[in-house]
Amino acid sequence: MTKLNFWGEFKDNVLEESFQRDKWPSVRFRLLFLYFVTVLLLLASLYIDYVVLGSGVGFHTVFMGKTVPCLLSVFAFILLLTDKVSLTVQYAVMAASMFSGLISESVELLVKASDIGTLSVPTTVFIVLAYYILLSPRTIPPFVAAVSGSFVYLCSLSYVVPFSSASFVNSAIYILLANIFGSFFLYTFGRSLRREYAAIQDLKRLVEYDELTGVCSRRKVLEAGVGLFKSARRFDSKLAVLVMDIDHFKKINDEFGHHVGDAVLQETTKRCSDVLREVDYFGRVGGEEFVVILPHSSLYDGIKVGERLRSCIRERMFKVDGTYLPSSVSIGVAELRGHEDFAALLQDADEQLYQAKASGRNQVCPAMLRVVKPPAQSIEICVD
Ligand code: GH3
Ligand code: MG
Ligand code: MG
Repeated sequence: MTKLNFWGEFKDNVLEESFQRDKWPSVRFRLLFLYFVTVLLLLASLYIDYVVLGSGVGFHTVFMGKTVPCLLSVFAFILLLTDKVSLTVQYAVMAASMFSGLISESVELLVKASDIGTLSVPTTVFIVLAYYILLSPRTIPPFVAAVSGSFVYLCSLSYVVPFSSASFVNSAIYILLANIFGSFFLYTFGRSLRREYAAIQDLKRLVEYDELTGVCSRRKVLEAGVGLFKSARRFDSKLAVLVMDIDHFKKINDEFGHHVGDAVLQETTKRCSDVLREVDYFGRVGGEEFVVILPHSSLYDGIKVGERLRSCIRERMFKVDGTYLPSSVSIGVAELRGHEDFAALLQDADEQLYQAKASGRNQVCPAMLRVVKPPAQSIEICVD
């Protein structure tokens, strides 16, 4: 898949970041579980070491070796619980705690040289596999930590037993297999998760944006309208809505063909997008009909924006296939004034659009001030 790099991550950094953010809640939950179990196991194994080794130098060395991953795991657990630092820091702490876990295995191996091959190797294999499985879909930190940790472990082992002994070869094979299976899982599982994510993003784009013009779809702009309406009412802020329709668009289609009509639609949206703010919503709600939502804007602001939109269409002819053709738009404007819901506000602007059409097109028509009747109040009369 061309979208993925050698590590199986998205080549596009922004996409990779949004993918990691999307997966973070489930990774976070798995990591909390992992650190919790790691700390419990380290404490339990320290108790066993104490029983086996007594309180001599050997135990103190193992104790020091296990304290580091234990404290790092507790630290990582607290960082995860607060969830205040960046993902990069979280993953760096995670890789450090994993690496120190494998180092503590090496320390234990050196101390318990006589028991090698019975306890340490399976534990190391489990640590390696657990990190590969639980840290996906992150690829590089678990891979680097697992491979370097395994290498250090095998170096320690070669210090205790001869390189060519059956015990060393056996351990090396176990650890090699754990790394091969782990990294294969990490790579293939991460790839399928990313493919799924990319497909969902494509679907979202199709639902949220109009294919022909690239502006918001009907669904997205109306959904945004409902949200902005609620927030404007809640915080007593202003909100203006414009409904815009291309004049005599059918004629363009009939005279020059559908493809010219399409090009006019694209040029219209391009010109309009250029005069709108980033916070404004601009969507295509029908064939040649558009809705513009202006947060924190009054009727007066709406009229000014409407006038800007109207003149950016009218000021220059549209050039399609070497033909120059004029175009114009009619616009209805309304502002939030005690409307019951967004649909009512939109209808107000739509009525003004009809007014603009009826008055000769190529104009902006604002909603007049409306008198909103206060809701009828029932008066209760209490008689003692
Ligand atoms: P008015 O000034 O009253 O708005 O007249 P009008 O001709 O613009 O309006 P009418 O509703 O009669 O025609 C709209 C036309 O838009 C009809 C339809 O074929 C065309 N249309 C709808 N969607 C598309 C599209 O995606 N591409 C093209 N090229 N035309 C479209
Ligand atoms: Mg029209
Ligand atoms: Mg229309």
